[in-house]
Amino acid sequence: EIQTSTPNAPNTGLRNLGNTCFMNSVLQALVMGQVFSPQAFLEASRPKRFDAGSQQDCMEYMRFLLSSLHDEERMTFLHCQRPSNVQDNKEQKTLIEKMFRGQMETSITCKTCLNISQNNDVFTDICLAFPPSSSGGISITDLLNRSLAPETLEGDNRYACSICGSLQNAEKTMRIVEEPEYLTLTLMRFSYGRTLGAIRKLFDPVFIPATLLLPVETSSSLGRAVHYIISSVVVHSGATANSGHYYTYAPPGRMNWFEFNDSSVTTTSWDSVSNMSRHSQNATSYVLIYEKLSCEDRGTT
Ligand SMILES: [Zn+2]
Repeated sequence: EIQTSTPNAPNTGLRNLGNTCFMNSVLQALVMGQVFSPQAFLEASRPKRFDAGSQQDCMEYMRFLLSSLHDEERMTFLHCQRPSNVQDNKEQKTLIEKMFRGQMETSITCKTCLNISQNNDVFTDICLAFPPSSSGGISITDLLNRSLAPETLEGDNRYACSICGSLQNAEKTMRIVEEPEYLTLTLMRFSYGRTLGAIRKLFDPVFIPATLLLPVETSSSLGRAVHYIISSVVVHSGATANSGHYYTYAPPGRMNWFEFNDSSVTTTSWDSVSNMSRHSQNATSYVLIYEKLSCEDRGTT
């Protein structure tokens, strides 16, 4: 059921149907990208493994949703395929591919034989891990740069080199080779703590920049920086992974910022969003969606 706060307003709330904030928060984040209608989403079913009325991870739901929509649309392409345009259908992208899919290249260089093994993978979101020293605060830009920085594989982490036929020290590099229209960044706030023996939540404050530069490069082409602007932020409010509440911040039409919290829609400020930890202790950013800026948006000709 959709509830609109004022007639003709772009700001629409979604009623909580009993712990359905995992769905409402993601829908509200996606709808801000003007990609989907909320009605279409409400008609979609939840993942079978999600028990009715229990707390769920909103990101698990989002990945399930995007992957189901992609599969459904792919099936439709196959059924509607005519022999004359087999090639066209292969190149036809689904809505999810057009909007959220990017491509990443992983290279591993063996430090002994210098052989390079390369792999290309598609992604719909990038997970950002917190460094051990970030409890005082860190920016999204730093987290993203860290996740794309070369990583040395050594010790317990050594690489099984097929040329050497044994475990070797190696360097792993990840590059974005194709950028998505909507870049989804998931903060790894829920991690398994060995000392506790349970999933714990990391409260590290994160500064959210309004715009972001994503480095895109291939091994055969010069790198370029793609401009993005913040589109929505999904918040997890609560002390643990198994409890709490999700809601979304977004600026419809890139105007004023609103908090979409189940059926309640209230105005807020960009400062409360970008410096969330200063305003609340338990409420932390969890999923950020950035939208790619066109040249016109950036004011260049
Ligand atoms: Zn080797």
